[in-house]
Amino acid sequence: MNPLDVYKKLPRKNCGKCLSGTCMSFAVQFLRRLVTSSECPELDEKGKQEIDAMLTDPGDWKERRLQELFEEIFNPPPLAKGAKGGKGGLSGIAEGIGALAEGNSLTIRYLGKDIIVNPSGFSAELNIMDKLLILMYVKTAGSKPLSGKWVAFRELKDGLIRSESFHEACELSLARMFGKDPDGFIQKLRGLGAQDASGFSAKHSLVIYTLPRVPFLVLLWPGDEEFGPDCKVLFDSTVTDYIDVEALLYLGMSLVRAVN
Ligand code: SF4
Repeated sequence: MNPLDVYKKLPRKNCGKCLSGTCMSFAVQFLRRLVTSSECPELDEKGKQEIDAMLTDPGDWKERRLQELFEEIFNPPPLAKGAKGGKGGLSGIAEGIGALAEGNSLTIRYLGKDIIVNPSGFSAELNIMDKLLILMYVKTAGSKPLSGKWVAFRELKDGLIRSESFHEACELSLARMFGKDPDGFIQKLRGLGAQDASGFSAKHSLVIYTLPRVPFLVLLWPGDEEFGPDCKVLFDSTVTDYIDVEALLYLGMSLVRAVN
């Protein structure tokens, strides 16, 4: 299956109502599982079913992985005799990832909201990718202190192969939204807890903690007669101790959805 096959089934209006901005970009991102058929408001039910059928496994893997993560986090197998201990159970993990543990519950700040997660589920309505991201962050159980050194996606471990996807799915989408309504966009970022950062050449430099140990430094430049608006996102150099680049790519998409 290639993006052209998906593109042919799309309304091909290039209306920009989806986060991808154009139908061809949507088709590419759809096959990479960065967007779902329901994110094109111009597609009718039949169209959604047709493009979903082009994916071999459109959504079940996410549900399966979610259940596995719940088991691995809240019901881990007992340690083998003589094996070294874990990270001090949930409270040890919570300390490392900047969460709060109480009994069998964790409270984690995610995109500006406190989310409680325990074996029964989540305290807030979240889409499945958000749930997966929070549980993957807990499961990775990072604990390195943040370095304060900002690096680009492509400089991260395994970042080079996914940096173009991150640019398309996150930076270009943020730049587009900023260009449409600069003040409104900055207000939305602030609503998620973004704080001004200094020392950068961009018109706006803001740090937003998507997860307690995963800050995004968002740099924004307005457009001029020659060039459109631009956005660059940088990460603390320790970020892959907390979340891998694949999950970071989805986290970027979740930030885009949160400010859209
Ligand atoms: S919303 Fe649908 S029709 Fe509009 S640009 Fe996106 S994919 Fe194309």
